[in-house]
Amino acid sequence: MSVFDHPEFDNHEHVAFYHDKEAGLSAIIAVHNTNLGPALGGCRMWPYINSSEALTDVLRLSKGMTYKAAMANLKLGGGKSVIIGDPRKAKTKEMMTAMGKFVDSLGGKYFTAEDSGIAVTDLQTMAEQSEYIAGVQAQYHFAGEKPDGNPAPSTAYGVFVGLKASVEYALKSDLQGVKVAIQGMGHVGFRLAQHLKAAGAELFVTDIYPEGIERAVEELGATPVAPEEIYALDVDVIAPCALGASINDTTLPTIKARVIGGAANNQLAREEIGDILHKQGILYAPDYVLNAGGIIDIYHQRMESSSNEALRAHIEEIGDTLKEIYTRADAEQKATNRVANVIAEERFSNKA
Ligand code: NAD
Repeated sequence: MSVFDHPEFDNHEHVAFYHDKEAGLSAIIAVHNTNLGPALGGCRMWPYINSSEALTDVLRLSKGMTYKAAMANLKLGGGKSVIIGDPRKAKTKEMMTAMGKFVDSLGGKYFTAEDSGIAVTDLQTMAEQSEYIAGVQAQYHFAGEKPDGNPAPSTAYGVFVGLKASVEYALKSDLQGVKVAIQGMGHVGFRLAQHLKAAGAELFVTDIYPEGIERAVEELGATPVAPEEIYALDVDVIAPCALGASINDTTLPTIKARVIGGAANNQLAREEIGDILHKQGILYAPDYVLNAGGIIDIYHQRMESSSNEALRAHIEEIGDTLKEIYTRADAEQKATNRVANVIAEERFSNKA
């Protein structure tokens, strides 16, 4: 199948294929839209079954990045790159060097960063070949944490700010005494729990591994919950911070919360679930708007004249963007995920 006939093709500006036999690299870069600025999006290394599966992923993910950047008020477009191969078995320094050359060959139209299967050390190797590698160094830090290139602290703060705005909108209250269930006590989930605790929320947490739960119980007084029970809890807010498609036909009928919002990507198993949530009066914070703190962080790390304060202020805009979405969704009687997509399209359709 040609790229132009592919079901995930959505007027992508540039799709480039690269093969370096010596380095064992087969990779694709997709640039979806650069109306607002150069495309930014991570590099994913994954054992795709074939190049067709890799193409599907890169077309879909690069488009998602355009929407995310537009809603995060960034002067960036959307792009993504994929490397075909198992990162645990096939990754070599030569391969990363070749990938750096590939990124460089687009001349700054596309900036890469971390994604599944790619570590900061891999980016450092790529950066020897190209200046268009983001997320290699961190100069601004957040919440007192030493910067180490992982944007999780910024992502967690963005999710916190966004949930605060969502609770204000839906429940007309601050977070004091509000019951929040968090799925996933990983890099983002645990930090989100810390922010929520400091704001007076009551926490219910789960994970498939005990370490994060035990820490949240000990340090934050959280109530531990079994993974399969988290969505049916009698709580005010559910924060999915583990994996995608967690709001699905199985969990949906059990949800009692009035607000849903977390760090996980693609939380809705399908877009129509947003319509059902809207009809049921459950406020859904569109995932790519709420979890944009990470991309905002990467953007500021590359700016020569940013600051901790500028980074924080930019992340706090997530709350205002969500309120804009909610107000319009109410006025137009539409689901918040649909309205977010329309606002993003309005923003990136016009050149900066
Ligand atoms: P992480 O891997 O550190 O944490 C995820 C946690 O979820 C792990 O502790 C894992 O054990 C747990 N988990 C997995 N399956 C689960 C299940 N079925 N039930 C309960 N817990 C389960 O990842 P992270 O960096 O904290 O990111 C969390 C999510 O947010 C991911 O989906 C990620 O793609 C997304 N995200 C992260 C960032 C970031 O800056 N790190 C930015 C945007 C989006």
